[in-house]
Amino acid sequence: MKKRIAIVGMGPAGISVLRAMSQYDAYQACQIVIYNNTQTFGTGMPYQKDSDLLLINQTADTMSIDPNNKLDFVNWVKEHKDSNQGPKSFLPRTWYGEYLKSKLDEAIEKMHPEIIYEDARAIRVQEDGRYQVETDQTSQSFDILHLCIGHLAYQDPYNLRGHNNYIHHPYPVQEKLTTFPEGSHIGIIGTGLTSIDLMRFLRNQPKHYDLSFISRSGGFSLYREPETDLTLRYLTLENLEKNRKNGFVPLEKMIEWFRLECQEHGVDFDRLVERFGTGTTPQLREQLETQTDLDIVQTIIGKMDPYIADYMTALKVSDRRLFYSEYESLFHHLRAPMPKQSAERLIEGVDNQEIFVYAGIQSIEPLEDGFTIQLANKSVTIDYLINATGHEMSLSEPERQLPLIAQLVDEYILEAEYNGGAQVIWPSAEAVSQKYGILNNFYVHGQLVQGIQYGNSAHLLMQQATKVVALDYFKNF
Ligand SMILES: Cc1cc2nc3c(=O)[nH]c(=O)nc-3n(C[C@H](O)[C@H](O)[C@H](O)COP(=O)(O)OP(=O)(O)OC[C@H]3O[C@@H](n4cnc5c(N)ncnc54)[C@H](O)[C@@H]3O)c2cc1C
Repeated sequence: MKKRIAIVGMGPAGISVLRAMSQYDAYQACQIVIYNNTQTFGTGMPYQKDSDLLLINQTADTMSIDPNNKLDFVNWVKEHKDSNQGPKSFLPRTWYGEYLKSKLDEAIEKMHPEIIYEDARAIRVQEDGRYQVETDQTSQSFDILHLCIGHLAYQDPYNLRGHNNYIHHPYPVQEKLTTFPEGSHIGIIGTGLTSIDLMRFLRNQPKHYDLSFISRSGGFSLYREPETDLTLRYLTLENLEKNRKNGFVPLEKMIEWFRLECQEHGVDFDRLVERFGTGTTPQLREQLETQTDLDIVQTIIGKMDPYIADYMTALKVSDRRLFYSEYESLFHHLRAPMPKQSAERLIEGVDNQEIFVYAGIQSIEPLEDGFTIQLANKSVTIDYLINATGHEMSLSEPERQLPLIAQLVDEYILEAEYNGGAQVIWPSAEAVSQKYGILNNFYVHGQLVQGIQYGNSAHLLMQQATKVVALDYFKNF
């Protein structure tokens, strides 16, 4: 009998899994079924059809989904778009979605999987150890399951969901952010990369709005400097493997390597953090106007990408917690910058007094037609509020989750990982369950394992999918 394989979720992670399978003749001995609703089928959530003003926050040459061709996305753009933008440009996320979809179409044409254009609403473990996937219309059993459902529910930190003038989830922006009346004062909660997306979109509308960013810190990410040519000496995979004791390397040691690496390339890290560590608008202005060493630090961190999950899994729980409480926000700040043109737009708006930045948010009071934002020493009134605080990180409160996640957690199929997402064995990516133990042949990929596969961008998802498919089952067929 043919093995039955389900891939639930067809964003970058699901597509990577299917494409990884297509590299082995063994897929022909399988019946493959893929699941995703029509809206995000083949693009995933961030790259779905939307405004071209939303940009990928990495340069095009880092976004290939083909592990054998780093420039696959760049070449696709050359062929399909009337654009002469090169490998170092920041391209629209919708273009990336189109690219992903074309890669999925190629795989579908070759492999002929069954496609179910619905979301799974429940997945159960059967007595025979197989997995049952249910949608509104279907119910099927599988020997092997890849769970690739991506982002958790959107957060609602001020409990404003349901209020008339509150946009709880901003995407797609072309549907949700185009009806504000001329002259409205629009508040964006949060200063992360989503808020920058929204600013770029709203500033390019034919109507004029006043925009306010509202957050606790008032700090933005920096912008991405051009990559520099350097070779890592300390923060290498070899160094990590050589220094493992009982499988672990202390965080202290990794921090020492980080400092040595900066020194090696002539960076005074403490001084750099003093100048740019919080991302306030004066710091962004300074980055735009002066010479910095940020290109070097961003390159050092970028070069660790392919094995960053190995570094994370080499930390003991106590060290991992220490990393998250003391260092992660700075690391993330340096690792996830915005495109330069976004920083220029932001600073120009601040200078023209069309964009305001309010820090120290304490509470938000809904009014009939707007909101009062209480800050540390004053309050501000806003007509519309857009929530840009991002997705939940933790599975531990199933009542706040999307139905499938709630069911999986409720029935002990997925367990919450300390640092976000689901627990899996690494690097095989099989789910770990209190009730069932290691769930053989139940693999979890992508955003849902973000607590383990730190910062899992497109090319990391592809690499991981290739490892799992090749190592764990096709070789045994
Ligand atoms: C706004 C935003 C912008 C981002 N920009 C970048 C960027 O510029 N560069 C970068 O490298 N990373 C970026 N990221 C990170 C991004 O999360 C990853 O690159 C990537 O999208 C993760 O892929 P995924 O397949 O795990 O998740 P997703 O892209 O979320 O895909 C999951 C898919 O599963 C589907 N699904 C969900 N539930 C079910 C269900 N029950 N049944 C069936 N299907 C289901 C979803 O509809 C979706 O299509 C961004 C993230 C966000 C939120």
